[in-house]
Amino acid sequence: MSAELVHARVVDHLKRLRLGTLADRLDATLGEAARVQPTYIDFLDQLLRDEMAAKQRRRIEMGIQIAHFPSVKTLEDFDFKFQPSLDAKLVRELATGRFIASAENALFFGPPGVGKTHLAIALGRAVVEAGHTVLFTTATALLADLVDGQSKGILASRMFFYGKPKLLVVDELGYMPLERQSAHLFFQLVSHRYEKASMLITTNQSVTQWGQVFGDDVIAAAILDRLLHHSHTFMVQGESYRLRQKRKAGLRLHSAPPLES
Ligand code: ADP
Ligand code: MG
Repeated sequence: MSAELVHARVVDHLKRLRLGTLADRLDATLGEAARVQPTYIDFLDQLLRDEMAAKQRRRIEMGIQIAHFPSVKTLEDFDFKFQPSLDAKLVRELATGRFIASAENALFFGPPGVGKTHLAIALGRAVVEAGHTVLFTTATALLADLVDGQSKGILASRMFFYGKPKLLVVDELGYMPLERQSAHLFFQLVSHRYEKASMLITTNQSVTQWGQVFGDDVIAAAILDRLLHHSHTFMVQGESYRLRQKRKAGLRLHSAPPLES
């Protein structure tokens, strides 16, 4: 059989076996092999490693799309020096994704602008890279969706949707006090995920204020009880990173009182 026919058949078979990367790179790979003259096993090893690496990259890209992160934030571009009170070691430990296997939660408490959302996105990405499913949402969007599901009689499928990812990130809990129905739905979701799958929650309200957030001390206590049982809590303090950046740029805030001279 002619070399051309064999080449065409190899490409066809690689595609049918869904080894698309190998198929696309076949000529480059063959050229490289002719130059380096690897052993048969080294040649095969290289082929398989290329294909695995490409599959891994696609899996991560897909996982990041599915997670719906609102922006690109990574731990590499988080300035831990600006947050000396934050346990950087524990953040990096969470980034390995090991807490997912034991369905542990992570809670970030702190005022606006201190990097809670940044950390939530960065850890979410790291968990995707570690091979787990992640979904990012805000408390407002999540509860609007659950309330909508309940009114349409399809709450179970919405609960399933938010129950399924190995990590559910809920950003900005507590910015708005919740209606009674929302508080109940949030409790149901937390119970549903309890000891089965992890949640990462950011909030500007301290634990003592959760009664007001949920409009009910009993529900707030029941939610906290489950969330905190297997959890890592972070108090993110300090001044707003946004404001500091502005100050650094030499801008004066509109709300700042005029300087006395
Ligand atoms: P929060 O969610 O606590 O209100 P964000 O995470 O939205 O705060 O942070 C506000 C902005 O400042 C974002 O653009 C974020 O990337 C940036 N930021 C905050 N803290 C840090 C930090 N320590 N290092 C780098 N960027 C930071
Ligand atoms: Mg935020």
